[in-house]
Amino acid sequence: MASRIAQWVRPEIRALSAYHVPDPGRLIKLDAMENPYTLPEDLVEGWLDALRGVDMNRYPDPGARIIKERLRRVMGVPAGQEILLGNGSDELIQILAMAVGGAGRTILAPEPGFVMYRMIATFVGMEYVGVPVSPADFSLDAEVMLAAIEAHQPALVFLAYPNNPTGNLWDRQALEAIIEAAPGLVVVDEAYAPFADDSFLPDLGRWDNLLVMRTVSKMGLAGLRLGYLCGPADWLAEFDKLRLPYNINILTQASAAFALDHHEVFDAQAAQIRAARAALDAGLRALDGLTVYPSAANFILFRAPAGRATALFESLKRDGVLIKNLSASGGMLEDCLRVTVGTPEENAAFLAALGRALAGA
Ligand SMILES: *Cc1c(COP(=O)(O)O)cnc(C)c1O
Repeated sequence: MASRIAQWVRPEIRALSAYHVPDPGRLIKLDAMENPYTLPEDLVEGWLDALRGVDMNRYPDPGARIIKERLRRVMGVPAGQEILLGNGSDELIQILAMAVGGAGRTILAPEPGFVMYRMIATFVGMEYVGVPVSPADFSLDAEVMLAAIEAHQPALVFLAYPNNPTGNLWDRQALEAIIEAAPGLVVVDEAYAPFADDSFLPDLGRWDNLLVMRTVSKMGLAGLRLGYLCGPADWLAEFDKLRLPYNINILTQASAAFALDHHEVFDAQAAQIRAARAALDAGLRALDGLTVYPSAANFILFRAPAGRATALFESLKRDGVLIKNLSASGGMLEDCLRVTVGTPEENAAFLAALGRALAGA
């Protein structure tokens, strides 16, 4: 079997390791940018009623029209711009890559950035170019980006805004210059839009190569798997050919429609998370020896004293808190840890555990 696998599975796929998701067990889960709040009790009945009306024996609406209509209204997608839905925005990244992929085609993104851009480039046999950001503050170096775009002529540029795992918003002028210089598509990935003060959604239509991608995951519906890509109808019509016919299942369609009808609940949760982020940022800054990076998302990246990140991560785990250890990925993220903003109680438990870990040599 091994030799057959070696013969037939592409070498770049054999070289990959599967995306690892740790089992949180009973730990306080602050590793995956989930919203800590569930649907409020008084809405659960209404949601279950919506699900009771679902015909599970039938295929879902292939166009998921109700969701698109709700998203357009609730999120303020500009008139004249279309929407394409994915099973999470991860699937949208895959669809985009499949549409433009091929020999010699390149995906380009700032680095450190969202790992799926690189992984999906590999899946579809594209080149991936990670362009280093400024090491001091993870800001975008516009000149370096523009030179890389000129050199590599990427089919796709991904700009996570705010960026994951660093949490910062890029300079808007730099992004606009990149959109203007890019020979292909520029996708502004706004997975963290509920926690940020700027967006390119209102800018759709200003450039014919700009798309904005979002997801309901970080706003509190990660379990539904629903991402949406907004932009010019002509581009999205091409991508829609690659979408598997029923990619948004019927339970997701019913649940997301219900949730979007009650979006004020999620807006209020996002406001709570933003307030908790400010408190968590202050709490981290009050601890000795950490470098804390400003965040416009629902997580905070911080740098541990040199050589101690993994020990701190393990100590937190023993103390009941799971965060993300980015130190192992090396480079600019050496010594870095990332914590998701949880409830005020969870954040306090994390800060107390981190304080103990830092004190314990
Ligand atoms: C979490 C995340 C996504 C993936 O979102 P899903 O809709 O859950 O697939 C996309 N982009 C960035 C930058 C993210 O951090």
